[in-house]
Amino acid sequence: MTAAQSGATGDKGRVLSGKVVVVGAGITGLSAAWELAKAGCTAITVVETSDATGGKVATGTLGGAWFNEGPDAFVARGGVVRSLCSELGLDEKLISPGTSQAWCFTRGKLRPYPANTLLGVPTRVGKLMAADLLSPLGRLRALADLVLPGSTLDNDEALASLLRRRLGREASEAMVEPLVAGINAARATHASVQATAAPIAAAARRSRSLILGAKAVVKQTRASNGPVFLGLDGGMATLTTTLETALEEAGVCILRSWEAIGIDRSKQGWRLVGKDRDIDADAVLLACPAKAAARILSTLAPAMSELLATIDYASVASIGLSYPASAVPSLPPGSGFLVPATEGTTISACTFVGQKWPQLGRKDRVLLRAFVGRAGESRALDSTDAELIEKVHADLARILGLQGPPDDAVVTRWPVGLPQYQVGHLSLAGTVHKELRSLGALDMAGAALDGVGIAACIESARRCSEHVAARLAAMAQSG
Ligand SMILES: Cc1cc2nc3c(=O)[nH]c(=O)nc-3n(C[C@H](O)[C@H](O)[C@H](O)COP(=O)(O)OP(=O)(O)OC[C@H]3O[C@@H](n4cnc5c(N)ncnc54)[C@H](O)[C@@H]3O)c2cc1C
Repeated sequence: MTAAQSGATGDKGRVLSGKVVVVGAGITGLSAAWELAKAGCTAITVVETSDATGGKVATGTLGGAWFNEGPDAFVARGGVVRSLCSELGLDEKLISPGTSQAWCFTRGKLRPYPANTLLGVPTRVGKLMAADLLSPLGRLRALADLVLPGSTLDNDEALASLLRRRLGREASEAMVEPLVAGINAARATHASVQATAAPIAAAARRSRSLILGAKAVVKQTRASNGPVFLGLDGGMATLTTTLETALEEAGVCILRSWEAIGIDRSKQGWRLVGKDRDIDADAVLLACPAKAAARILSTLAPAMSELLATIDYASVASIGLSYPASAVPSLPPGSGFLVPATEGTTISACTFVGQKWPQLGRKDRVLLRAFVGRAGESRALDSTDAELIEKVHADLARILGLQGPPDDAVVTRWPVGLPQYQVGHLSLAGTVHKELRSLGALDMAGAALDGVGIAACIESARRCSEHVAARLAAMAQSG
């Protein structure tokens, strides 16, 4: 299937013969190449430093079943991932989580996570008052948000400072921070509320009370029907491997084990400098992590390179453990649990894989997926794989009452895992896009600047490839 045959919209009939190179074959780079092909670009090359495509989208096996080592779901609302899946013929592979109930391990036991929150911010007073997750004093302090004098979010600020000011420290640490950390591995004391938790920023702008603002945002979002999250049968890598095949069938050249280390101007436009050889191109789209982009841009755009180098990444690891069913007493109903940083455990979260994804539920074994590592807290990751498995098992045995060791395990380390958006990140990202675009047919897309989720990466890829295609079209017109 070619991009045009996919039937997706695009400037069909337009041919842009200029050569485009995309740096990085994660979901951003692959979907950008797809968008460029749909826009009529006929000479697209994707260069990828590793020997495989997909970046953080990775599916392996555990206990004889497929197992997501990176993302396991995507935000379905907004439709951008769904429409890509449709173009790739993957509609039949979409799967919904079996449950949305989650738990939180605090004050020595698992406690149900209240439903109907906005990224952990309570939206219903009744549910908040009944939330065993917080101590009675913590609940009353959170309720004070309804009457505390005004503090709308004018600009950006640290997530923790907003949450603690409105809801108090306990609600911030036990309810919101673990959820946000579960998505971005973020440290709330440093994370930009605008870039890391946009819905909370929207709630803060909407009302003096964060609870009432969150209620209004939830009400508005509910108007768009359909599941919040979806996954893919066979694992999330089904998306990237299908995309890779479709791109190659459409004539896109994917160069694996090809590391970009610099970019210069050339007669044609750009010379992408590789470790072993260079490629001349009319347009370049960077879709790699910030540090790699900083290195590539160090001579051409030193100020942008310095800005990009300030974006830190949290190192994280996903540890999959497979237990014989006899070692696991019945798990609480739900998709898993989060652990606030204050609990001092090795793990930050755990997914009950077979309950979240019923396709993976088996009578004879139980698959658990734990996460280790948060921004500024990567000491546990200095352990060897065997030590890490032991520490994670010890946490899980204590929390879930496991009665025996796992008989299969998979440790996946993501040393440059999740970008940390500090206060002011949106303005940094805006500056980088603007400055790179001012240099010509050049841009940068993906998680480093525009949001960590798969949906955000694909949206970013779409926007940046539109810019690149428009520049190529203008260049073709001007001869
Ligand atoms: C453990 C984990 C769980 C996650 N869970 C979810 C989830 O459930 N849902 C969700 O939506 N998101 C999740 N995410 C986030 C999401 O997976 C990532 O943000 C997203 O996949 C990033 O895509 P990307 O293409 O921008 O970057 P990457 O996936 O990092 O891809 C960048 C690519 O560029 C390549 N590259 C780097 N340097 C160079 C160079 N110099 N030259 C050439 N190539 C280069 C890299 O090898 C890589 O393949 C998770 C992330 C992690 C780590």
